[in-house]
Amino acid sequence: MILKLNQREFIDTSKPIDLSIELKAQEHSLKAWGQGDPKIEPVRDDDFVGSVAEGGVVNFKNIFFNPHAHLTHTECCGHITKEFYSVNDSLSRYFFNAQLVSIEPEKINNDSVITLEQVRNLDIDVNTEAIIIRTLPNSSSKKTFTYTGTNPPYIDGNVAQYLIDQGVDHILVDLPSVDKEQDNGILAFHHAFWNVPLNPNTTRTITEFIFISSDIEDGTYILNLQMGAFCNDASPSRPVLYAREEKNI
Ligand SMILES: [Zn+2]
Repeated sequence: MILKLNQREFIDTSKPIDLSIELKAQEHSLKAWGQGDPKIEPVRDDDFVGSVAEGGVVNFKNIFFNPHAHLTHTECCGHITKEFYSVNDSLSRYFFNAQLVSIEPEKINNDSVITLEQVRNLDIDVNTEAIIIRTLPNSSSKKTFTYTGTNPPYIDGNVAQYLIDQGVDHILVDLPSVDKEQDNGILAFHHAFWNVPLNPNTTRTITEFIFISSDIEDGTYILNLQMGAFCNDASPSRPVLYAREEKNI
């Protein structure tokens, strides 16, 4: 399907670019925050097994996982507030003007940091509502890596206000977090982006653990951001990009 954006541009819905990492209940699944592998197990009762392969009539499996630790997820301010906020209430629409950027984090002491200067040097389009950050180097090992204890790259907390000032409401990263793994609970970026605790912003979202294939070029796209309908601070999500194409249609 061709969807017209304006007089010159369109998106082709038959060419989605899926940025999500799937949950796999097996060794080499994506993991972080000290969590083990997620589990997908058939329900077992005295006279029932939720596995056709084991003689049951249906596959009927329980899944145990952590949205922050095991797959692509989107979170809201409720991630860091005493009051409860559900990410499922944060979006009132699901298509956004998006910009994909690639950044090689800077080495600062023992950390790899996306700095304010690096983000200031990006040419952020005035219409950008969602920024998608691909960290360099990029590799498909990001889909199966165990991040626990590796001090992954993170974003300087001052970048949050800068992005807000550019009109960005949604941030998507290919990292386990926008903040440093061990920072004594400061979570500077999360707090600044959601204005917690002063006046929590309930509509901005952070999406972590995406993967952007290296053949996808930096530039502006249309993002469709969908998530599972979980009443929770975070939910598994599927961000999908569509290239803005130009043609006479
Ligand atoms: Zn998270």
